[in-house]
Amino acid sequence: MHWADVVASNVEGKQTVSTGISPSGEIHVGNMREVLTAEMVVKALRDSGKEVTFYYEADDIDPLRKVPKGIDESFSQYIGKPLYKIPAPDGKHDSWSSQFIEPFKETLEILGVKLNFIYTHDLYEKGLFNDLIKKSFENRDKIGKIISEVSGKEIKGEYYPFDVICDSCGRLDKTVIKTYEWPYVEYECLTCRHTGKKDVRNGGGKLPWRVEWPAKWVILGVTIEPFGKDHAAAGGSYDTGKRIVSDVFGVKPPYPVVYEWILLRNMGAMHSSKGILIRSIDMVKMAPPQILRFLIAKNNPERHIEMDSGKGLISLVNEYDQTERIYFGIEESPDKERTGDIRRIYELSQVDRPPKEIPFQVPFNHLINLVQLKKSNEEILESLRNSGFKIEGDLEPMFRRAEAVKYWLKNFADDEFKITLTRQPPDMKLDASEVTFLKMILNGLMTGSSPEDVNKVIHESCNASINDKKRCFSLLYNIFLNKDTGPRIGYLFTSIGIESVKGFLRHYVNGNH
Ligand SMILES: [Zn+2]
Repeated sequence: MHWADVVASNVEGKQTVSTGISPSGEIHVGNMREVLTAEMVVKALRDSGKEVTFYYEADDIDPLRKVPKGIDESFSQYIGKPLYKIPAPDGKHDSWSSQFIEPFKETLEILGVKLNFIYTHDLYEKGLFNDLIKKSFENRDKIGKIISEVSGKEIKGEYYPFDVICDSCGRLDKTVIKTYEWPYVEYECLTCRHTGKKDVRNGGGKLPWRVEWPAKWVILGVTIEPFGKDHAAAGGSYDTGKRIVSDVFGVKPPYPVVYEWILLRNMGAMHSSKGILIRSIDMVKMAPPQILRFLIAKNNPERHIEMDSGKGLISLVNEYDQTERIYFGIEESPDKERTGDIRRIYELSQVDRPPKEIPFQVPFNHLINLVQLKKSNEEILESLRNSGFKIEGDLEPMFRRAEAVKYWLKNFADDEFKITLTRQPPDMKLDASEVTFLKMILNGLMTGSSPEDVNKVIHESCNASINDKKRCFSLLYNIFLNKDTGPRIGYLFTSIGIESVKGFLRHYVNGNH
């Protein structure tokens, strides 16, 4: 059974799924694991006939902790202030948090994820936290004891479960409560030394994370929540949240779905503060949205994922295409026992329902070449027809993929994937075996040769002439691309067009004989 269906089968009745983020920096592919894990669970619940509400909370009242790499250091003056009250670094958005939330919302739209978006500062300002803030103050000794018992953190002096926003400097990270009489507190700000009295209701500050999280479970009625392994660690915020929500608020904790990180190949876990990331919006622009959904759907949440925007992306797309062929029964699953799961992964990867018939497929590497060598979709189709492709099924997905490839080539692709044809056959001194090699290719290639035919001709010609694969390929790449390496030769030649290839080769064969 697919992991999302396992979660759905472990719960009964109406469900509320919730996830969220502290929008302090770029929202990257790593962050997408949380919301997409939730999305898969929501889909599985609905497919099993359960009623579901799906929330996403932007914790925009959280304080800025550090200025992420790539943002001007002058913004360090805002450290400790709530994210929604800090100006946007790009000067174009309403606030720091909205600069990062807006592209994320666009990403969700592209991915077909429909949810109820909540700004946590709104929940405070509208008073939805008020009752729980009161309860937290009334039970502050109990909460302090739970936190120190479960997390091992020593709590010095009086414990007040609230971070006041300083009326003078606007920071909430270093205010200390001195006295409390509902709904007022007297506090001192350790940053600016301001002392004052404040109403803790309606956005005067916030509950600390370990208390805020269980409070949100109560306010929203959360029954299932995916979260990262950091929160799941022994003594972490899920452990304390579980105790606080049941012992203090009298509510059952949500069913946990713990997920592992997405690692950027050779760089480690993605971190927006360190600038190690692929932005979520870029991911859904460099590949169709099904691909990111597929990445999450095919991996059990407890397994880490390795990802990169080069070869890793290409093999991911190829794997998606294979999954699609298995789904439509065109290819057999390499692991028969997993066929059901593989079909389910394909379903969960769709933005909407799966198509009725398999869309037209072109090997991804081939499409990457065609996008660079052809000027229009019509030219791409013509080239495919000429190299023996049967054009059938829905073509739109391929055209959309071609658009994504353009974005990828412009912003992410390594040089090895970029090709520019030489305008005319470059001048080269060839020895006899090289001329024989080219002559044999010239004789072997036929109009309508498929990429496989081309490969066969080249390998056979090479064996019978130069007899050194590296030299053979390097010669061809230099003739056509003016470099030593390039994309798979069968696809390259069929993309260029067999007649044009032969025209180039004739130049060397005729010129020397
Ligand atoms: Zn202050």
